[in-house]
Amino acid sequence: MIEVEEARAKIQQVSTQQKKVETVSILEALGRVCAEDIRAKIAVPHFPRAGMDGYAVVASETQGASMEQPVCLTVIDSIFAGDSEHDFVKRQRTAVKIMTGAPIPTGYDAVIKQEWTDYGDTQVKIYQPSKAGDNYGAVGEDVQLDQKVISQYQLINSRAVGILAAQGIKEIRVLAPMKIGILATGSELVSLGTPLTSGKIYDSNLYTLAAFIQSSGSQIIFKEHCSDTIAELSRLIHEKIEEVDLLITTGGVSVGEKDYVPKVIQQLGGEQLFHFVNMKPGTPVMASLYKKRVILSLSGNPFASAVNLHLFYWSTLAHFMKCTELNLEKREVQLMEALKPSRIRRFIRAYEKDGVVSLVSKLHYSSVFHNTLETNCLIDQPAKKEFKKGDYVMVYYWKF
Ligand code: AMP
Ligand code: MG
Repeated sequence: MIEVEEARAKIQQVSTQQKKVETVSILEALGRVCAEDIRAKIAVPHFPRAGMDGYAVVASETQGASMEQPVCLTVIDSIFAGDSEHDFVKRQRTAVKIMTGAPIPTGYDAVIKQEWTDYGDTQVKIYQPSKAGDNYGAVGEDVQLDQKVISQYQLINSRAVGILAAQGIKEIRVLAPMKIGILATGSELVSLGTPLTSGKIYDSNLYTLAAFIQSSGSQIIFKEHCSDTIAELSRLIHEKIEEVDLLITTGGVSVGEKDYVPKVIQQLGGEQLFHFVNMKPGTPVMASLYKKRVILSLSGNPFASAVNLHLFYWSTLAHFMKCTELNLEKREVQLMEALKPSRIRRFIRAYEKDGVVSLVSKLHYSSVFHNTLETNCLIDQPAKKEFKKGDYVMVYYWKF
């Protein structure tokens, strides 16, 4: 059985990378991958800006100021945020009353905060000396002209949206989303809204997977379920594969009599990349290449399907979008309890806080899903490795 990491590499070796680009508003760009380097067309700020409410001064003229011996300056103007840059001849021993965000007039090199003065209107007493540059937001203090503000293939987060807005940029070019189809297999599955009859269950995986995928910025082209029949499975895969960049199936991938997914893909002429990976849950996970598209076939049990998706989807997406930030986040943390060795590498639902991780529940079957709500990560327990309380383990965090 191959390792998760080798299996991921096999997918990446054959999968294409996104070339399509689209223009979207900066808010729509949230969670998307920027298609190009973006350079600053304006410095931020583009004028010297007061960082405090107070008085623009020449710092050297405030030297020696104290409560006992204040420096007294003549106030020659008042400037507020939004006022244009005032044009005047700077005279010695003067100050300009100024509010935060207002342009500092030429000739002044510091802003004394008003609490260090007597708030004077025509004359102001200054009680503390200042240094050149105090509360003085120089041109480009935040962003310099022509500085690269966003890099190509950078994931746009909320801060990036604000940085673009500060540039006056309304729209950017992002990579088109990865197009994804989901096919949940199982004759026991019924759609939401349909009454449950004996032996049937609601198709919950379809929604778990769709929710993860939607949160990743990818586009779900179709999501449907399919009975355990070779004819229907074969028809759906054959007809729909070309609508997507990645097809995800769940269920029917193991060794049961009606686990038709491997057989159908083989009959269609798909190339198997791997089948069965050293991981539990979801050991039977499989990937194939069919009509130049990757088909990722996950186990059917809800927890197994979610773990399979997690370990293979994000790395596949990161590669397709050329964006490493899309990879799963992992971290080494300390175990709160011992873990018995297992023949197969295990991914155990757990909760990490403040650098320590604990198992929240005793129920670890791959058919039990509800307790994943109490978890935020998966412990990676290598095969045959025993852990004692206090040992360090790697955890992978759920995204969303
Ligand atoms: P399978 O991998 O097809 O053998 O399915 C394993 C278990 O997962 C069975 O109990 C299935 O009923 C269940 N299962 C399979 N697909 C789904 C699904 N889409 N939603 C919820 N449970 C499922
Ligand atoms: Mg099944």
